[in-house]
Amino acid sequence: MKLGKVLEMARAANRARSSVEAYKLEKLIRELEAKRGRGTELISLYIPPGRQISDIMSVLRQEYSQASNIKDRTTRHHVLDALTSCMQRLKLFKKVPENGLIIFCGYVSRGIPGDEKLEVHLIVPPEPLNIYLYRCDSRFHIEPLKELLAERDFYGIIVIDRQEATFAILKGKRLEIVEHITSGVPGKHDAGGQSQRRFERVIEQMAHEFYKRVAEYAKKIFLQPDLKLSGLIIGGPGPTKHEFVKGNYLHYQLQSKIVGVVDIGYTGEAGVHELIKRSRQILENVRYVKEKQLIQKFLELLVKDSDLVTYGIREVKKMLEQGAVDLLLISEDLELEKIKLKCQNCGYEDELIVSKRDEAKILSMKCPKCASPMTATGKIELIDELIELAEKMGTKVELISTETEEGEELKKAFGGVAAILRYKATF
Ligand SMILES: [Zn+2]
Repeated sequence: MKLGKVLEMARAANRARSSVEAYKLEKLIRELEAKRGRGTELISLYIPPGRQISDIMSVLRQEYSQASNIKDRTTRHHVLDALTSCMQRLKLFKKVPENGLIIFCGYVSRGIPGDEKLEVHLIVPPEPLNIYLYRCDSRFHIEPLKELLAERDFYGIIVIDRQEATFAILKGKRLEIVEHITSGVPGKHDAGGQSQRRFERVIEQMAHEFYKRVAEYAKKIFLQPDLKLSGLIIGGPGPTKHEFVKGNYLHYQLQSKIVGVVDIGYTGEAGVHELIKRSRQILENVRYVKEKQLIQKFLELLVKDSDLVTYGIREVKKMLEQGAVDLLLISEDLELEKIKLKCQNCGYEDELIVSKRDEAKILSMKCPKCASPMTATGKIELIDELIELAEKMGTKVELISTETEEGEELKKAFGGVAAILRYKATF
C-alpha cells in the first residue's frame, strides 16, 4: 500500500463534502488538461491572495511588449490577444479574491489549423492559492490547481502508548510530524519497595494525567480555525489507545472525528508511518460510508414508503421539474447525454437521451419524415442537465461512485438516477 494510494483515497473522501462542487471543478480540470495551443500561446496565470491587481497588470504589460517580438505572425497575434483578454478580465476586479484567482486564457486548437478559438477561464479556487505563476506554453498549467485541491484533506494522527505520544498531520501530499511528548509514567515492573497496589494506583493516576495532556495537545494541534479536519486516526501498541479513546479525554469536536482506532507495533514516527499504511480500510470507509448511507436511505424508503421515492431518468426528471425532489442521487458513471437533432431539409426536430457509446449511431440517423440526414444542434451531458435543474429547484444533489455495492446498484438497478421526494408523488 503506497502512501500515494492512501492519499488518493483521502482526497476522494473529501470529495463527499460537496460532491457537486467538486464534480464541476474536476470536470473543468479534465477539459482544460486536454486543450492544446497551436504553438506556445496558452497563458496560465495564478494570482495568490494579497497581490495587488496593479502589480499583475504591469507584469502582463511587460509580457505584452516582449510578445510583440515573437516572429511567427499567428503565434504573436494569438499571444497578444490572449494577454489583452487577461488584462481586460483582471480590470473587472478591484482586488484579488480571498482565495486568489486563476486565469487560463488562449487560442485553443480545434483540430483544423486556423480554426483556433480564444477561450478565457476564470477560477476562484476553493482553497487559498499559495503560489504565483505566469506561464505561456502550448498547454494550460493545471498541476498547481490539482495540488491545491489535494491539499484540502487533512487527517489528524495520534500514536499513543503509556510512555509517549506522537501527533501528525496528513495534508495533501505532506505528512508532518508535529509533536512528540513523553509521559514519565514508570513501567509496571518498577515498583521498588512500595506496596504493589499503592504503586498501581499511582501509575493509573499518572496515566490519567498523561491522557489529559495528550488531549490538550490534540486540541491545540488539530482544532485550528483554518484547518478542516476530515478525520482523526488513533493508533498504538497495546490497550492504551482504547483506554484513551473510551475515557473521552479528547475535546468533543475531536472525539466525534475519530474514524479509526488501529493496532500497530511501533510508537513515535515509525508508528505514524505504520498507522497510515494500516489505515487503508479506514480512509476507504470514510469515503464510502456517506455514499452507502445515502443509497441505503433510499432503499429503506423504497420498501417502507415507496411513494416517497422515485428512480429512472424520466420519472426523476418529472419530479425534479415539479420541485418535488428533496435529494437527488446521481451515479458518477451515468454515461448518458442528451442530443438535439434537426433535419436540415424539413426542419423536423428531436431530442434523444443516449449512451455516449451510441453517439455515432445517433448522429448518422436519418430524418423519420423525409429521410434526409439529421445534424446535432446541441449536446449536453445528462449529469450536468440534472444538476442544473436540481439547483434551480433547490434540490440537494449527491454524486455517487460505483465503488460500493450500493453505488453499483444505483447504476444497474435504478438507471443511475434516484430521488427522495419532499412529499408523496402524484404521477
Ligand atoms: Zn426531414
